[in-house]
Amino acid sequence: MNKNKKFSLCIHGGAGVISKEELSKAEKASIVAHLKQSLTAGERILEKGGSALDAVCASVEVLENSAHFNAGHGAVFSRSGKHFLEASVMEGKALQAGSVANSERVKNPVLFAKALLAHKDVVMMSGTNADVMAEKMGCDMVENNYFDIDFRKKQWEQAKKLSEDAIFLDHSNLKMGTVGAVAIDTEGNVAAATSTGGMTNKLDGRVGDTAVIGCGTYANNKTCAVSCTGIGEYFIRGTVASLVSNLMEFANLSLEEASKKAIQEQGVLGGEGGLIAIDKDGKIAMPYNSGGMYRGYVTETDKKVMIWDTEA
Ligand code: ASP
Repeated sequence: MNKNKKFSLCIHGGAGVISKEELSKAEKASIVAHLKQSLTAGERILEKGGSALDAVCASVEVLENSAHFNAGHGAVFSRSGKHFLEASVMEGKALQAGSVANSERVKNPVLFAKALLAHKDVVMMSGTNADVMAEKMGCDMVENNYFDIDFRKKQWEQAKKLSEDAIFLDHSNLKMGTVGAVAIDTEGNVAAATSTGGMTNKLDGRVGDTAVIGCGTYANNKTCAVSCTGIGEYFIRGTVASLVSNLMEFANLSLEEASKKAIQEQGVLGGEGGLIAIDKDGKIAMPYNSGGMYRGYVTETDKKVMIWDTEA
């Protein structure tokens, strides 16, 4: 079973304006602790020879359950004051994928996306029908106000004060965002998962890159696994996640070069954000063109959490 290959796992908790002055010591410590818990959840699976798919979903589930991040509990508020959640999952061996957009009641959207990945008839579900299906498939369901937290409400009120249709990058004003994970397991399979509440004050019904395979999430054993964060519209227009893979496969770029190039391309369109990626040899890249990105990785020999350029 175990071909004695090495595993690695990389996570993010969103890219955006993260001000060193405004992030309190206590808050930073708590964020770092939750990022480490997320790494550990995936690591436990990988070190036992478990799959990259199981590992990325376990890591993302931890971050969805943390109020620090804009995914699951702690998701941002939409224009009407509700929460609409998105998640997607892909594995690189058979290129199976699952995704959900505009869920209002699934507690851990990443687990529903994973269940869809295994479903033979569908890749992507949205809205009320997605919630009905998730419930039937045995996902944990909650009321929409389970996702409320005070900080996000204030952020939403602030956005509305600026103008009714102001949209905040979910982590603007320094607060973290979307979450994601990429991994390679000891069998050499890669996988990626991403989850978000989207953008503060987004239009109800808006779909971002996190729900769209190839834009916010992509995995292919021939190349790499990718999870993105940033202003979703630009990541959709740039098909950023699959661009990294395509640049590797068809232009022979290294993971490092391809992921930098993909972030540059969405930057040229006017976008802002970052991505994490792992290639088929276990190399990791984490480029961003925003003020910072919560991120971390674990390999058999190393474990690190970072916010700016240095270890947190
Ligand atoms: N990409 C997400 C979206 O546009 C937001 C984020 O990454 O923070 O919905």
